[in-house]
Amino acid sequence: MDLTETSLSALRKALDGREISAVELTKTYLERIEKADGKLQAFITVTEDRALADAEAAQKIIDKGKAKWLTGIPVAVKDNICTEGIKTTCGSQMLADYVPPYSAAVMEKMWEQGGVLLGKTALDEFAMGSTTQTSPFAKTKNPYDLSRVPGGSSGGSAAAVSAGLAPVALGSDTGGSVRQPAAFCGVTGLKPTYGRVSRWGLVAFASSLEQIGPIGRSAADCAVMMNVISGRDSRDATSRDVAIPDFCGALGKGVRGLKIALPVEFYGDAVDASVKSAVLAAAKELEKQGAELVSCSMPSLKYAVAAYYLTACAEAASNLSRFDGVRFGLRGKGESYGEMVLDSRSRGFGTEVKRRILLGNYALSSGYYDAYYRKACAIRQRISAEYDCLFRKADLVLTPTAPTTAYRVGENAEPTAAYAADFLTVTANLAGLPAISTTCGYDKDGLPIGMSLTGRAFDEITVIRAADCFERIFTPVYPEIK
Ligand code: GLN
Repeated sequence: MDLTETSLSALRKALDGREISAVELTKTYLERIEKADGKLQAFITVTEDRALADAEAAQKIIDKGKAKWLTGIPVAVKDNICTEGIKTTCGSQMLADYVPPYSAAVMEKMWEQGGVLLGKTALDEFAMGSTTQTSPFAKTKNPYDLSRVPGGSSGGSAAAVSAGLAPVALGSDTGGSVRQPAAFCGVTGLKPTYGRVSRWGLVAFASSLEQIGPIGRSAADCAVMMNVISGRDSRDATSRDVAIPDFCGALGKGVRGLKIALPVEFYGDAVDASVKSAVLAAAKELEKQGAELVSCSMPSLKYAVAAYYLTACAEAASNLSRFDGVRFGLRGKGESYGEMVLDSRSRGFGTEVKRRILLGNYALSSGYYDAYYRKACAIRQRISAEYDCLFRKADLVLTPTAPTTAYRVGENAEPTAAYAADFLTVTANLAGLPAISTTCGYDKDGLPIGMSLTGRAFDEITVIRAADCFERIFTPVYPEIK
């Protein structure tokens, strides 16, 4: 049994059936990390001691017959999710030595279940980007081709799961950062409905858009993680008190009776032909399985990237104003407090983060507020209204996840080109809807192609159900790091 090739339910069985101990399982992954991560650079911090301690504690729970979903299962966690006593850098010099005095709500839940923290994964600085190349720390490579990017900003988490360095991982998705790296790395990533998962302890980038979400090798594994991390938390006022279903209840149900919409704007010229044909072939496959395909339109899609970047940058400018170099990370020089802060922020933030702070402050400044920020809010409402319209005709929306497969490191580096490539994922964040990306094919170079299914608010069940249905008829090919 190759343990690194195994689903969470198979790992659960192996642990509960005493085929393997939690410590042995954890060691298997730590050894894989030791062997492959030099090349892959998926991790900023490997928490070996913590992992072994977690595993020992988990084994005691298993021995008592009290195991839950995650007891003894190793998990990799994006390095913008706070972990008490464990460095959380956010991929920035600004937080280079930040050791949080508390853990994120999702970490509390994960540890409560007896989950094992393998380490903290690489990301774009402050989760701003699509390549996992913008942080001064680990720059993750795509496990299918080490000369290519893994996507981003949760590229470390996606690459780790794809390469078998972790069975499952957590990422965060503000504008596609769980789904796009999942697509580039050939795995499954789910962005929950806004308010489904507490953001307490997620270092804030754009608070009205982001959610923590799972990355796994299947929709089934994401369902398990959703069972663990969902729920209202009084420390995040935007988390919602809605019923939490057993997300695993969606599995094996098929798609018969479901209506799936394919809005024409998501299949335009900006999407590579190979990507388009793989997603359309997957749509046909879902039709064969009993779904009904509905053609439809989202006229405001052309404004989505502008609305997203204005909103995200405005919120980032505000959220990141707290970093001053006084307590954490790079400390600048200066005669006065003001000079010190200026120097800290000038040197502590990377180019992309500074660009976004400037853009955000500009969009919020008096005289420009109406022209930019307020207009972005109006477009956001319009996109939500267009989704409402679609969901009167259909249960799900099927689109490509990204317009291309993984590109080479250094390509697509020009900011406006990189921003434009986000047009397929940002609408789900603007409207707060759940969306999953799963692999639906490979291009001529063997690089994975992702498709996304977006659902109604708090209807992750249907999103998982359809992705799971497709995964049962699709055989993925995972990479081997040599
Ligand atoms: N690529 C998008 C951006 O750069 C998404 C980032 C994210 O979801 N964290 O903003």
